[in-house]
Amino acid sequence: MEEILYRKFGFTSFREGQKEIIESVVSGKDTVAMLPTGSGKSLCYQMPSYLLNIQVLIVSPLLSLMQDQVEQIKYRGEKSVIALNSFLPYKEKVQALHNLRQFRFIFISPEMLVLPEVKKALASCLIRLFVVDEAHCISQWGPDFRPDYMLLGEVKKQLGSPVTLALTATATQKIRSDIRTALKLSSPAEWVYSVNRPNIALNVKQIDSFQQKIEILKEYMRTISSPGIVYFSSKRLADELAAEMHQHLDRQIASYHAGLDTEQRILIQQQFLNDQLDWIFATSAFGMGVNKENIRTVIHFHMPSSMESFVQEIGRAGRDGKKSVSILLYLKGDEKITGNLLELENLSLRQINEYKKIRQETVNQKVVEEKAGISEIQYRVLNYFEKHENHKNWEENVFRLMSDRLRERKEQLTQMTFYA
Ligand code: ADP
Ligand code: MG
Repeated sequence: MEEILYRKFGFTSFREGQKEIIESVVSGKDTVAMLPTGSGKSLCYQMPSYLLNIQVLIVSPLLSLMQDQVEQIKYRGEKSVIALNSFLPYKEKVQALHNLRQFRFIFISPEMLVLPEVKKALASCLIRLFVVDEAHCISQWGPDFRPDYMLLGEVKKQLGSPVTLALTATATQKIRSDIRTALKLSSPAEWVYSVNRPNIALNVKQIDSFQQKIEILKEYMRTISSPGIVYFSSKRLADELAAEMHQHLDRQIASYHAGLDTEQRILIQQQFLNDQLDWIFATSAFGMGVNKENIRTVIHFHMPSSMESFVQEIGRAGRDGKKSVSILLYLKGDEKITGNLLELENLSLRQINEYKKIRQETVNQKVVEEKAGISEIQYRVLNYFEKHENHKNWEENVFRLMSDRLRERKEQLTQMTFYA
């Protein structure tokens, strides 16, 4: 499995749930799988096709989703894929139906699935896996809106009752039971992974200025339940604010990031685990494999780089099941710095200095971009720093952040080599 995962998909490890779901399907069990959006459900039906060398039929409710999937599959080099939907021109449809047996992956809308000519073509195929993607639609849209969904169970029978996999991100008892009924699954294997952590309260706090953000954080350090983690995307800020607040508030605060040496990192981690620290000011380097049950609060000073990281980072709170809190401090524009921090790696020192020089002559964005030779995104990142780091030498922080990132990258590489 690992070999195909790497060879066909280019991934080095499975995400939560994928392996279990694939194993269930491959072992011939009807399976209902619920994984959060973006967690990689597609792999759960694509991989079995390669493992068993079988033809897969995927019923997909939305044309845009279907198109998107097909493009992704083609993009990684798999040509044996077809989407049967109303987008397909008549001539191509006739041809595709004629050759349907040849395709490894056949995507189809529920409406098409019940057309006589489509049924006939499918009868000539050897479908060994029947997939219903976004299967909550069966329940949600119900018999009135999409009557063809109700016929899926019948269609499955006509296909010779292949192994069936229903995929969705929405996990309620009712939806699961509707899926079982509509698809005529008597006792499918059910894999439910939910991102919902009912004991963690999610908050977003709108902030008006960088200064206010720091004030509010200070206030939280005094008033909000600890132990807790505050995530930063800048090591410098994590260091500086931790040092300052440790000194001025009566709280035990330390910073943690990939820039510290191993000994320091282990020490801080141990102190935190042993409840000797109230707060850790960390970059995303902190948390993996740290199993501390009683973390009460996770604060994001900056937005994390992806929704996935956000879910993981806030998920470190409340492992003991007790009430916990997540707070995102949001200052307008934050999404630009976090999402585009990578752009920093492509900036040269010369470009940054040029930007600064030209900005003194003009505020015209296009002119600055052109003269400094930077992209629009790079302009926005630099502009962000110029505005939010309220002092003359703001570019020094950009430099520092750049070298931070480079070091972090290097460290990741070293670690990867180590584990390899
Ligand atoms: P879902 O259908 O659950 O919303 P997708 O199947 O569309 O999610 O996958 C979301 C993204 O995750 C895709 O870009 C996919 O390439 C990526 N992905 C899936 N599995 C893995 C994995 N094991 N490792 C890394 N990336 C993955
Ligand atoms: Mg999907």
